[in-house]
Amino acid sequence: EYTSCSILDQLEGFKRLIRSELRAVLQKRIMVLDGGMGTMIQQHKLEEEDFRGDEFKEHPLPLKGNNDLLSLTQPEIIYKIHKDYMLAGADIIETNTFSSTSVAQADYGLEHMAYRLNRASAELARRAADDVTNQTGFKRYVAGAVGPTNKTLSVSPSVERPDFRNITFDELVEAYSEQVRGLLDGGADILLVETIFDTANAKAALFAIDLLFEKSYERKPIFISGTIVDRSGRTLSGQTGEAFVVSVSHMNPLCIGLNCALGATEMRPFIEAIGKSTTAFIICYPNAGLPNTFGGYDETPEVTASNLKEFATDGLVNIVGGCCGTTPGHIRSLSEAVKHCQPRVPAANIYQDYMLLSAGGDSSGC
Ligand SMILES: [Zn+2]
Repeated sequence: EYTSCSILDQLEGFKRLIRSELRAVLQKRIMVLDGGMGTMIQQHKLEEEDFRGDEFKEHPLPLKGNNDLLSLTQPEIIYKIHKDYMLAGADIIETNTFSSTSVAQADYGLEHMAYRLNRASAELARRAADDVTNQTGFKRYVAGAVGPTNKTLSVSPSVERPDFRNITFDELVEAYSEQVRGLLDGGADILLVETIFDTANAKAALFAIDLLFEKSYERKPIFISGTIVDRSGRTLSGQTGEAFVVSVSHMNPLCIGLNCALGATEMRPFIEAIGKSTTAFIICYPNAGLPNTFGGYDETPEVTASNLKEFATDGLVNIVGGCCGTTPGHIRSLSEAVKHCQPRVPAANIYQDYMLLSAGGDSSGC
């Protein structure tokens, strides 16, 4: 075992490969993430039986709306959506796993499917990314999507009992660990903890990831993306952008930023604030504007693209993409728009030699 030192050094080198590879690309140009998965699935107007496929014909609960299940029951639809996004210009695609934890799948009585859902979704995205890489000679990456779940550690679901929680940190760690194992076993290059409205939930995900990296998996780059719920510029659990950055900086994310809730215009001050507080690269993938009265999104590809181009021109971003309401049309327009913009150059040091503290995202008053 003493002679294996140089082999271990080599292995350590391989582990860092994707991180340093991505870092090199991000220093050269702005990268593009894909757009909304739900938007594209909706266009297929799938019915209950389509969601069920053969395997879940007899399942006792309704399954319509369980988009993540389609990776198993309608894999060719999900594969095609991944491919369309990459051919529109996405360098990175997200796995169809936003709600693939046992916690979120329990709503459908499918908590026992969590590992398989994540593994199958990652394998599907991996196959699509490899196919497009081979077809175009342009390398594409798979980001394993880890969503917030439908339970929250920081806010009580009961008005009468503010101290009540319907889940514990340890339960979330276990659920996230299962999800992340599936994503890594299925071949994800990156782990993307996204749409974070409760930093305590995100910390459970990050803790689970760290444990897996320490014990049994090679390290992969981590992207972290929060969401701001209104113009006050705070997450639902009450943090400002800066506090959010400090809360998760121990994980040394390659990228950090914002996605979802507000459109690009409303996001701008918060993206600026986050950029000033981190040495990481900045990722930004807004919705197609604010939702209309019917919960749909009206912002055209041209408008989304010109908003994000402004961010790019002003040196605010390293990765851009779309969230709810965006389509391959949006990704095509924005990848064209930022093609010749210089990427943001992250600061080498921020607050070096200072101790930074922030409340852990728990709004109970600490
Ligand atoms: Zn969204």
